[in-house]
Amino acid sequence: MPGWVARSAQPQAAIAKPVLARSPAAPVAARSPAPAVGVGLDSAAVRVRMAQRLEAAGITHPGVLHAMASVERHRFVDSALVNQAYEDTSLPIGLGQTISKPSVVARMVELLLGSEAARSGLGRVLEIGTGCGYQAAVLSRVAREVYSIERLRGLHEKARHNLRPWRLTNVHLILGDGMQGFVNGAPYAGIISAAGGNSIPDAWCDQLAVGGRLVAPVVVGDGKQALLVIDKSSHGFKQSILEAVNFVPLKSGIA
Ligand code: SAH
Repeated sequence: MPGWVARSAQPQAAIAKPVLARSPAAPVAARSPAPAVGVGLDSAAVRVRMAQRLEAAGITHPGVLHAMASVERHRFVDSALVNQAYEDTSLPIGLGQTISKPSVVARMVELLLGSEAARSGLGRVLEIGTGCGYQAAVLSRVAREVYSIERLRGLHEKARHNLRPWRLTNVHLILGDGMQGFVNGAPYAGIISAAGGNSIPDAWCDQLAVGGRLVAPVVVGDGKQALLVIDKSSHGFKQSILEAVNFVPLKSGIA
């Protein structure tokens, strides 16, 4: 059995809360979500199977596989979509936005962990596009601090609500225009965007630490998007364009 499964395949009582909780003393019971219909008490096994499919598809980082096997994606989607929560599909989260496919989340987080800066563990990360908060929860398992910014008040509040039961002390949710980055948390060892624009805002490159890596969708031609990786070194920036992706558009301003 792979090492990352061994810790994940605990009984549900041991996995559902403690895996995400950073402050065990915090009284989470009052806001503890009810078991999801359809996924229910064996959701840990369903997640482990999802992580095994991700591993078969090429994800190798044990921290990423463990995070994907741990974070309860079904808690982040509407109750009508719970049965699809562990399929490799993007799902609507309201206000015309979508939660990315698990395979895309895992791929982008694994890329983030491949930077020079992440060799000794991933430090501060900026996520642009909090959405429902799922990817922020995944990032909280692999990075020391997560700053996640969202421009739509309704989703910022939804993410706050979704994440509240786990009291993740290393996740900071910000309502703001992520095209400006978030200077208060800079420099970042990693920047990850869940929305794609025509170019990468200068603020993101400025706020990236030397040795850090930016992973974002960007429009490359014909309105099609590809995954872009930018590594910052003391000599400058190196960029690589990877596979085609399909993200919601990066927009400016708060709404
Ligand atoms: N990571 C999210 C996916 C959200 S979809 C999750 O796990 O659910 C992408 C999000 O990017 C949308 O919620 C959209 O409103 C947001 N977004 C688009 N442009 C933005 C900007 N300039 N600043 C902050 N968020 C932005």
